[in-house]
This record gives sequence, structure tokens and C-alpha cells, in this order.
Amino acid sequence: MTGDGTRAVHAGVPTPEPYEPPLPGPVFAAHFHLPGDPAVAPYAYGRQGNPTWTALEKAIAALESPDQDAEAIVFPSGMAAISAVLLGLLRPGDAAVLPDDAYQMMPRVRERLASLGVTVRTAPTGGDAQLDALDDDTRVLWLETPANPGLDVCDIRRLADAAHARGAVVAVDNTLATPFGQRPLDLGADLSVASGTKALNGHGDVLLGYVVCRDKELAARIRAWRTEVGAILGPMEAWLAHRGIATLHLRVERQAANALAVARALRERPEVTGLRHPGLPDDPSHALAARQMRLFGCVVSFTLPGREFADRFLDALRIVGDATSFGGVRSTAERRGRWGGDPVPEGFVRLSVGVEDADDIVADLLRALDAAAR
Ligand SMILES: *Cc1c(COP(=O)(O)O)cnc(C)c1O
Repeated sequence: MTGDGTRAVHAGVPTPEPYEPPLPGPVFAAHFHLPGDPAVAPYAYGRQGNPTWTALEKAIAALESPDQDAEAIVFPSGMAAISAVLLGLLRPGDAAVLPDDAYQMMPRVRERLASLGVTVRTAPTGGDAQLDALDDDTRVLWLETPANPGLDVCDIRRLADAAHARGAVVAVDNTLATPFGQRPLDLGADLSVASGTKALNGHGDVLLGYVVCRDKELAARIRAWRTEVGAILGPMEAWLAHRGIATLHLRVERQAANALAVARALRERPEVTGLRHPGLPDDPSHALAARQMRLFGCVVSFTLPGREFADRFLDALRIVGDATSFGGVRSTAERRGRWGGDPVPEGFVRLSVGVEDADDIVADLLRALDAAAR
């Protein structure tokens, strides 16, 4: 197996053709010339397939599953990918186990599943509650690790083994870690699902989602869902994301190193409480994270003394932007409570560390803390 950098640069890039671009440009086509039988045509109609998706899907599959053949299916957002798995695979009467500390849209997804007659059990990502929530009727176990924004981590291998013993499919939201941080399929999961809007694209200019799996039948069902529901990615977005993957290893390594430097600096500040980053040696998730992750991600979360303090802090930042989302090359932070969807204190800040110089980010954060205290 080649190294991460070599894989990132070459993932999904076709064999060189004389006088063709190394990464072919986006193919804009609602339909393709179609002589004869559509069953043997690689491309026929734009909702079914597009060569620009195919190249991106090969790239993502090569990152999530370098040693074995896996299939990736791309979607126009992370939520479209999540819906394809949960709404596409679960039927009335089935049961599913989902985290209660996951991405802020997940409670809405749980409500929708319940309204369709799916029994939903929830459990926090840390501890053993997810294991205890599994039952013989569980068809899907959904994990998000590290969980956004609380950054608890769960043991994918252990949970996947327990869920498989009950006949459940195991899906992991791999958005925060990225495939260079963690490979859920190698840890026993059936599906690795992610929002590529975050670090995978990394430039804050594309929304994207994907599902990767090794099982051909499962992949076919997810692909069929996309064709039937019509949740399709634009070719321009697909191409931009593929172009960005060439630097994914550089970005995520730099961001993880910067995030650790930032977390170490924030740890020294008395006004910072509840500091979390899985790479910090004394983080409650560190031992487990160190076993299953290769990089600990770019997110650092912490709590400041109240809403006003946090707002003054965010206002005073100059390099770190006040914006939602994470994983981009530019550092951003936000008071997560402003959305009202996460069970977090009013002063809770989710910080996404970018690729700027660590010293500059740290100086900006420490200066803004001083300004907020005045
Ligand atoms: C952002 C995010 C999603 C949703 O992705 P979109 O691309 O915004 O639809 C899902 N899971 C996690 C962990 C996320 O951070």
C-alpha cells in the first residue's frame, strides 16, 4: 500500500492520456449519446451517473478503503448521504440505535424515522450505553466518532462486533476524522458516511456527502436510493472536491498539529473549562482515540464563562472567523448554542483550526480571551 500523500495525490486520477488533462474537467450532461441498450451503457442519463462522479467516487473509495475494493456513492450534501442510509435501509417495524450527542440535524432525522414506524433508541457516544441499546431487532447501528461537537469517541470495532452478532448494519459518520484520521471499514463498520463539505473539501465552497461500503448489494441499494430520490451532486462540485483531495493529507496533518497546539495553549487558561480535543493526552477520549485514529482532527471545543463572554471573545478574534461548519483551511469558531440544536452550555465554543501558522492562531485566541475578560 502506498502512503497517504501518494494516495491523496493520485486517488481517482485516470491513467495519463496524451494531450488530455491529468484530472479531466467536469462533464456537464443531462443525457449522453445512447446508441442501443441502456443496460450496457456506462452513462445514459445524468441522474443515474456521470463520469465526474465516477472519478470522485474512485478517489473517495481509495481513501476510505485502500486495501480492498469498496464503492463510494456521492451525494449533494452530508445529510443526503445520511438520509440514503437511514431512510433508504430502514423499514417500518425495524429498530435503529443512534447517538444522542451527534450532529445537530440528527434529532430531526430520528423524529422522521419514528414517524415512519422505525423504533429509535438513543445512547451517548462515550461509555457503554450504545452497547446496551443493541437488541435483536436492531437493523442499523449509527455511530458518530468523534461526535460533533462534544468530541466523545466510541470503540468502532467493539460496537461493530456486537451489532453484527445481532445482524445489524453498522454505519459510522466519519466527517470529523476524515479517511486519513480513521478508516471505519477497516475497524469493522459496513458503511463509512461523511459530509465532504467539511475537511474533505476543506475550502468552504462545496457541499458534498458520501457513503462508502464494500458489500456490493448494500452499495447497489444506496445507489438505487440516489437514482430514485434524485439527490445528485453537480459535476462542478464533484470536480472541485476531487481537485481538493490532492492536498487532503497536507491539510489534515497540518490542521491536527495546529489543533493540538491550540488545545495545549487553551489548557493553560483559567477561563477555559470543559476543554476537549481527542489528541490531548489527558482528554477522556484519548486512549481510545489513539487506538483507532491516526490523526485527531481539527476541532477543539471548550466552554467560556457564559454567553456574553463567548460573544465578546468571538468578536475580538481577527484571524479566526466567526462562522459555522469546520474542517476548512481558514480557522473558524462559533458559539454553538446560537443554533439551539446542541445540548451544550451557552458559553460553549466549537473551534475549527485551519492551516495558518499555529503561533498566529494561538496568539489570536489568547488576545481575544484577554479582550473578552475586560
Ligand atoms: C456537517 C455535518 C453533517 C451534515 O453535512 P452537510 O454536508 O452539511 O449536509 C453530518 N454529520 C456531521 C458530523 C457533520 O459535521
